[in-house]
Order: sequence, then C-alpha cells, then structure tokens
Amino acid sequence: MQVQRVVLDCRPGKNGEPSPGNFRLEQISLTPDLKDGEVLVRTLYLSVDPYMRCRMNEDSGADYLTPWQLSECVDGGGVGVVETSRCSALAEGDVITSFNWPWQTHAVVKGDGLQKVDPQMVDGHLSHFLGAVGITGLTALLGVREKGHVTKGANQTMVVSGAAGACGSLAGQIGRLDGCVRVVGICGSDEKCKALVEDLGFSAAINYRKEDVSARLRDVCPEGIHVYFDNVGGAISDIVIEQMNKGGHVILCGQISQYNKDVPYPPPLSDKTKEILQSRSITRERFMVLSYMSKAEAALFELSHLIKSAQIKVLETEVNGIENMGVAFCSMMKGGNIGKQIVKISD
Ligand code: NDP
Repeated sequence: MQVQRVVLDCRPGKNGEPSPGNFRLEQISLTPDLKDGEVLVRTLYLSVDPYMRCRMNEDSGADYLTPWQLSECVDGGGVGVVETSRCSALAEGDVITSFNWPWQTHAVVKGDGLQKVDPQMVDGHLSHFLGAVGITGLTALLGVREKGHVTKGANQTMVVSGAAGACGSLAGQIGRLDGCVRVVGICGSDEKCKALVEDLGFSAAINYRKEDVSARLRDVCPEGIHVYFDNVGGAISDIVIEQMNKGGHVILCGQISQYNKDVPYPPPLSDKTKEILQSRSITRERFMVLSYMSKAEAALFELSHLIKSAQIKVLETEVNGIENMGVAFCSMMKGGNIGKQIVKISD
C-alpha cells in the first residue's frame, strides 16, 4: 500500500523562524503485515503545537521531548481509526489517539502505545481529542485550577495572553466559569478580539499588534489584575505583570514569543519584572500539564460535559491534507489560527 508521510528535511536553527521548507513530503510503500500486538491505523487528524518548535532543534532543551531526526518521520498528537488489528485490546473501527502519532496517512503501530477513546465524549467531533477534550483542554483547566487560585466571590480579574489560541481561548472561559468577574484577552488581530468578546464571553480583548496594551489594560482592568494566564512571555507579560495586584498569581503556561530564540525555559525575566513579583508577593510557578496526568481522566470528563452543555465554546482552525502539515505548523506559530489548529488527513 502506498502512503504519504512527512519527514524533517532541515532544521531552522535555534534562532531561526521555522518554515514549511523544513518539512518534506514523501511517498513510501507500507506492508500491512501485522505482527502480534500491532495494528494498522488510518490517520484522521493531526495536531500542530508550539512545543514542536523545540523538537526541530538538534537538542530539544527539555528532557521530556526528543528531537525529531533529519529524514525521519515527524510525530506528535494524532487521532485515527483502527483498520486491522492483531492487538487483543483493539478492534477494527476503534477510534484511538496518541501523543506520538506519525505524520503519515496510514501506519503500522504497536497497539499498547495507543489510547482508545469514546467518540461520544466529543459528540463525534473527533478532532476535539487533540484540543478541547485532549491535552489543550487539560492544560487550560488544570493550569487555572492548579496555579490560578481563582475563588468564587473574590471579585478577581483574569488576563490571558495568547487568548485566541487553543489553550488561551479555553483558559479564559474556565476562569469566567470558576468565578472571575472580569476576563480580558490579549491576542494578535481584530478578528480574534471580536471572537473573544462576541463568541466566547470575554469581558474585553486587546490587539497587541496595534493597541497600547498598557493603556488599554488600565482601562479595562480598573481594579488591577489578580490572575494572569501567560502563554506568551516577553514584553507582553512584562506589561501585564506591571499591573498585577499584591498577592496575584501568574500561571506560567508557555512563552511562545521566545521559542525562536536560543534561551533556556523559562526564559530569564528582566530585573524590573523580578522585583515586581517579589515586592508584591506574586506567585509565578511553572505549570506542566504532564505533571498532572493523574487528574486527566476526571478533567476530560468535566471538559466534555462543559462543552456538551454549551458552557464552553470550542474554536478550531482546520487545514486539509498531510501535504500542509508544515504550512499549518508555521501558520500557527505566527498566529494564523483562531482556537486549535488542526490538520484533517482523511474522512
Ligand atoms: P495557540 O493555539 O495559542 O497558538 C499559538 C499562538 O501564539 C498563535 O496563534 C499566536 O497568536 C501566538 N503568538 C505567536 N507568536 C507570538 C508572539 N511573539 N507574541 C505573542 N503571541 C504570539 O497554541 P497552544 O494553545 O497550543 O499553546 C499556547 C501556549 O501554551 C504555548 O506557549 C505553549 O507552549 C503552551 N503550552 C503549555 C503546556 C504546558 O503544559 N505548560 C501544554 C500545552 C501548551 P496571536 O495572533 O495572538 O499572536
């Protein structure tokens, strides 16, 4: 059987911007002869995520992330369907997901590395297993719950950066449901700002590419900022932290503005920002969703319920075709997505 796959063609360099040319599409023949324990899967959806930028470097800089190898098939979050099985736990037609799904249209993989999922959890929207009812949803929900100290009745204001992205768009909605009286999003276009306020119920949104973020924050957060869900780091985060109240909490989720730079994670803060955090007793602990997987099952059920009952809305940007994986990844890194960036590989 002829299948298509995406391999890493060349690295962007630690200080370079990734481009679609870093990836190469190949056609290979796959012999679907299965050994015991293996399954033949057809890929339905693949995920592109910011952490993949580290995997493009020779050294990923994180012990839990292996670098992608040149001329080898790239992998990441994926969802698909079992076409043939020699694994006792999986049958033809089962929907499965994995964090290490090859960027390949069909693949022979070990069944024990796959997780069977129930399509009813997502009302048939199988791509949600890569987003709102998957690792992205967990990051938003558990990030807010573990590090945000959101308390009903406490009149808190939450600010979210990267607010129209996959994690940010959910984090703001969860902050509101958990009791924040005001949730403000910062993102990169007017269209995104409109979606945050009109579709997702954010109190206000700021376009950092064209507005004065500091002045607008002062306007829309008259009682200061209590909780900051930080997806981007850099200058935007310095501006937000400057307006945070004593005893506030930064949820250090990600620092995407620094991912094309050769800096450690988390990147060092300016002396001024460090001083503000210390003098105002603002907590800023690194949040890593993978450290909370014991809470994943219950959290995924909660996310599923919140979405089915329309308490949370899910936004996705879908691109078609395995040949567009590199394009979709680079577009997401530059803000081309609203909500979760998904690539549809087959029906
Ligand atoms: P998104 O869907 O948010 O996509 C990335 C977004 O980042 C873009 O849409 C773009 O939106 C924004 N962006 C890109 N460059 C910049 C910049 N220089 N300054 C400001 N914004 C920028 O991705 P995810 O939701 O998957 O990830 C969001 C963050 O969460 C990332 O930092 C990621 O690393 C982190 N993360 C952390 C996890 C954890 O366990 N801690 C787990 C999963 C994700 P815009 O148009 O607004 O610029």
